[in-house]
Amino acid sequence: MRPEWATRFSLQNLRPLASLFSEDLAIDLGTVNTRVYARGRGIVVNEPSAVALDESTGEVQAIGKQARQMIGRTPSRIKVIKPLRDGVIADFKVTEKMLSYFIQGAHQRRTLVHPRIIVSVPSEITQVERRAVTDSAYRAKAAEVHLVEQAMMAALGAGLPVDRPGGNLVVDIGGGTTDIALISMSGIVYSHSLRTAGNHMDEAIMNYVKRKYNLLIGERTAEQIKIEIGSASPLEKPVTMEVKGRSLIEGIPKAITADDSEIREALKDCVSTIVNAIRALLERTPPELSADISDRGMVLAGGALLRNLNKKMRDETGLPVCVADDPLCCVVLGTAKLLDDFTLLRRLAVH
Ligand code: ADP
Ligand code: MG
Repeated sequence: MRPEWATRFSLQNLRPLASLFSEDLAIDLGTVNTRVYARGRGIVVNEPSAVALDESTGEVQAIGKQARQMIGRTPSRIKVIKPLRDGVIADFKVTEKMLSYFIQGAHQRRTLVHPRIIVSVPSEITQVERRAVTDSAYRAKAAEVHLVEQAMMAALGAGLPVDRPGGNLVVDIGGGTTDIALISMSGIVYSHSLRTAGNHMDEAIMNYVKRKYNLLIGERTAEQIKIEIGSASPLEKPVTMEVKGRSLIEGIPKAITADDSEIREALKDCVSTIVNAIRALLERTPPELSADISDRGMVLAGGALLRNLNKKMRDETGLPVCVADDPLCCVVLGTAKLLDDFTLLRRLAVH
């Protein structure tokens, strides 16, 4: 039999003590941005999921914001890699480097005890990819690593009662994928991951400006246009924006003025693809859950800030639609809730 002192001082019992000295982390490993929440301090990292590599030496030149600023501006030997493309891990090694850089950045060398780390990952990643994320968190000196699904975390972050019987519909518009999930009793009843999301909207804007104005613009400019004047249905007050790029005809820098109706036209197909996917999921929903959803409606997270997207969704589905409080941070805030609720973590962790 274990002596009483051994029981009292077992690792499990020491965990609350250890957590006083360690900083447990919740991480949203997104296709566009990675966000890290440190227990007791809030969100400490919110940076692009990007790594600049020197292809001749394999050396990392920059990670996060700095790497993103280099997009479209690097000499040929330096390449900016987005290791998570379309919601899957396209490059394991680079993902690992990025993850450990952000984990170290979150700690700022303050940790005395190795932390517990919960990482929320895209729903559709494979077993091998999950393994790679877990291993890299352990290599970044985690004591415990748990993986959870982003769609579930978006629902939790939005404050939905995910653990009770009753349908909750959440639509998380990320950069690479839009994840639509129907959740009840801590499980995903149906989900669909769609490759039409924020990045595709940016591409659609680039193509539109090229076709209409013979103007080439970069992806960062396109994203800025989307954020500043993009919309899903007509605005009360029209807005315009000056857009700079390279003229395809004269080959020199040029500026045009774009208005919201043009950008709406550019985004039209992306928006209707997302709406149709939601409709398709609703058609497959069992009747009891369907009844719940007609009362509660759906919650939008991620790039849900696109103007009038909620109105468009409401018009097209006839359901109540609300945008989560802090839609872009919804997933990491949901994941952070699990740092204090071990029972729920055990229920929601994926293996
Ligand atoms: P991911 O989860 O894939 O890392 P994010 O949640 O960081 O992606 O961002 C999702 C998408 O939301 C991005 O494509 C970004 O351009 C878009 N986005 C951010 N703010 C706005 C906004 N105000 N209006 C429209 N789209 C936005
Ligand atoms: Mg996300």
